[in-house]
Amino acid sequence: MLARPGRRAYRRHQHTLIRQAESDGTPMREVDVAVIGAGPTGLFAAYYAGFRGLSVAVVDALPEPGGQITAMYPEKLILDVAGFPAVKGRDLVANLVAQAAPYHPEYLLGCRAEKLSHVDGRPVLGLAGGEQLRCGAVVVTGGLGSFSPRPLPVAESFVGGGIVYFVPEPAALAGRDVLIVGGGDSAFDWAATLQPLARSVTLVHRRERFRAHAGTVSRVLASPVRVIVNAEVTKLYGDDAVTAAEITVRGGAAETLPVDAVVAALGFTADLGPLAEWGLRLDRRHIVVDSAMATNLPRVFAAGDITEYPGKVRLIATGFGEAATAVNNAAVVIDPTAHLFPGHSSDAG
Ligand SMILES: Cc1cc2nc3c(=O)[nH]c(=O)nc-3n(C[C@H](O)[C@H](O)[C@H](O)COP(=O)(O)OP(=O)(O)OC[C@H]3O[C@@H](n4cnc5c(N)ncnc54)[C@H](O)[C@@H]3O)c2cc1C
Repeated sequence: MLARPGRRAYRRHQHTLIRQAESDGTPMREVDVAVIGAGPTGLFAAYYAGFRGLSVAVVDALPEPGGQITAMYPEKLILDVAGFPAVKGRDLVANLVAQAAPYHPEYLLGCRAEKLSHVDGRPVLGLAGGEQLRCGAVVVTGGLGSFSPRPLPVAESFVGGGIVYFVPEPAALAGRDVLIVGGGDSAFDWAATLQPLARSVTLVHRRERFRAHAGTVSRVLASPVRVIVNAEVTKLYGDDAVTAAEITVRGGAAETLPVDAVVAALGFTADLGPLAEWGLRLDRRHIVVDSAMATNLPRVFAAGDITEYPGKVRLIATGFGEAATAVNNAAVVIDPTAHLFPGHSSDAG
């Protein structure tokens, strides 16, 4: 059942979001709007869909919401989000989740959207694991596409046993002996954040020079963090969980350190992944949209970093505006009697 959005929509909260549809055994559920990507644009799209009285599911391949912010710079201050003179990435994501929460979006995290088809003119999304979502409309907010952390080869057998690629909750590493691998912004941000919490922090980088912000590098070098350059992690020890690491300096001897948490901050690789096969009109790695943020496919909109049009600027601020445009246009496609303009949120209180 699709909600009837319009000026009345913001007076009520839509609590029942997705329901099991009749099926032939394939799990099939129904939702008004499926948002693909829980980055800042997707999270704001979830708010807007809820505000319009539409049920919404937010699908993301990563296990945490926040997209690039959570994966790459949760501890950095962002200075160009309207209304926030300075906001830490982590706090912006938490606020976006809180802003959408009254409308109870369903988060399907750690779950990649694999397929898109149309049945009776409506999009059907195929999710990793086989579940299908029948949607009133889809809003693709896939950012850089599917991004996966660059692996630390010696750590592969320890993933889930002390190896992480980003740190959703720094407090979880309090009192631990932490080894950070990498020489970029993420590695140094994690080092600066974890140093006051952890028992020890060692940062290992395989080159002499760092690619991180100079101010953060100076702060870390002046702190109790031990920084080892021209070095690699050559072995990890432990049964189920890591207990020690062997570090080998180029041309030098190997040293074994007690370690019970490893943060592999080696960067991410990104590609459009399955989205490239859906028949969307693309311009290199981006989805071409019109001024309504509509794609070439029926009932499929896009917003945020993943979109392309003349004059496109890839920033959080533009993604927010595009999310509002995409969802409000989707609302009218779902219910042609609905108004495009959603009404003012300031009237809702
Ligand atoms: C180090 C750094 C610093 C930055 N600083 C700033 C700044 O100060 N100000 C600013 O405005 N911008 C900044 N940016 C850019 C900003 O982060 C992006 O513009 C913003 O994250 C785009 O948001 P998004 O939601 O469109 O996409 P993303 O944040 O990229 O999120 C997209 C999400 O979609 C998911 N996804 C993709 N494909 C699928 C699929 N098939 N199935 C399921 N999930 C999928 C991905 O896993 C990802 O979580 C910075 C970027 C970086 C890397």
